[in-house]
Amino acid sequence: MLRDKDRIFTNLSGTSSPFLKEAKDRGDWDNTKKIIAKGREWIVQEVTNSCLRGRGGAGFPTGKKWSFMPKESDGRPSYLIINADESEPGTCKDRDIIRYEAHKLIEGALLSAFAIGAHTAYIYIRGEFVREARILQQAIDEAYNEGLLGKDAAKSGWDFDLYLHRGAGAYICGEETALLESLEGRKGMPRLKPPYPALVGLYGCPTIINNVETIAVIPTILRRGAAWFAGLGNQNNTGTKIFCISGHVNHPCNVEEEMGIPLKELIEKHAKGVSGGWNKLKAVIPGGSSVSLLPKDICDTVLMDFDSLAEVQSGLGTAGVIVMDKSTDIIKAIANLSRFYMHESCGQCTPCREGTGWMWRTLERIAAGKAHYQDIDLLNAVTHQVENHTICALGDAAAWPVQGLIRHFRKDLEERLNILDATQLAAGG
Ligand code: SF4
Repeated sequence: MLRDKDRIFTNLSGTSSPFLKEAKDRGDWDNTKKIIAKGREWIVQEVTNSCLRGRGGAGFPTGKKWSFMPKESDGRPSYLIINADESEPGTCKDRDIIRYEAHKLIEGALLSAFAIGAHTAYIYIRGEFVREARILQQAIDEAYNEGLLGKDAAKSGWDFDLYLHRGAGAYICGEETALLESLEGRKGMPRLKPPYPALVGLYGCPTIINNVETIAVIPTILRRGAAWFAGLGNQNNTGTKIFCISGHVNHPCNVEEEMGIPLKELIEKHAKGVSGGWNKLKAVIPGGSSVSLLPKDICDTVLMDFDSLAEVQSGLGTAGVIVMDKSTDIIKAIANLSRFYMHESCGQCTPCREGTGWMWRTLERIAAGKAHYQDIDLLNAVTHQVENHTICALGDAAAWPVQGLIRHFRKDLEERLNILDATQLAAGG
């Protein structure tokens, strides 16, 4: 269990003000100038040594991502974009960072932008986060007033401007290239890659896009050192992580914990257990709606980190932990997610545009017991035709929960069809 002295987000539950005075009391903006004086290479190396992996879902190593930026400018400006378009079902961690720890994000933006050679950064915030946008803008304004942003930001010699941009509520704008399209004023539709944003990003310029949590932990890593961060968690899965626990638990919450904590311990210690007790557990979606759900026997022992969850064919994703007890209609629950992905598909590629709706309709038919046994295998085959055959990861995100349902709960699917058969037989149908 994470010791209090290793906690990065000490105001995650909002017991204190998010604004500058209290943020400084918590250690934010403490001699930022001194960190910047150590130079770009030092910061990138320190972040690389910390083994920090992106907290937005994909888990790509942050230092490595930064290293893709051109070392020397060819005349084009570089940009940092912070992805605050948090829309993954079951996930609400970035929202609370913005609400309660806004200055960790703003200081992290300055340090990260300096590391990649950017004088400008944009925070792209989900449109529905109205209150959060107000808080963040207020925090940005006070940082400007204090000289922490703008010309010679924090007296570091680095000029840095930070802009808040509100999205219009499309889930797909959380995909980094769709976000760029939206920021440039077009429809949020993912771009074909390559080229990758580090070479051709915002306005055709080198751009790094990082998640809110990723950027917000940077100042603490640089203050306390890469070795401290790398000493938490497991090898290749280091540091702390904010987990969002929701569903059938006694105390739904956001909590910062050490990476690699057992799922059962996470739920029992912080969410006060599954409603009705651990034996009532049916399944857990461990990383937001885009990853495969896990049945109870795997939940008994699995660890909450990128590699452990990949080993059981699921993922840490955004660490949105959705707990479902035995009262859950698991087929309806996954059908509900399928409907979400159908609705959020941008429609550019056929497998996603057609496949997401196809998966949803088939699941609804199975849930209602109005399908044939062979539809289960057909549904499975369709998920594989969608997976890896699309421009962006939304296709995979739509396919994986359905694959997980068939892999772990095939018996439930078949029983649903059995019930109908029995009913029809009894009715002489
Ligand atoms: Fe759009 Fe779906 Fe293709 Fe992504 S996978 S580009 S959301 S159609």
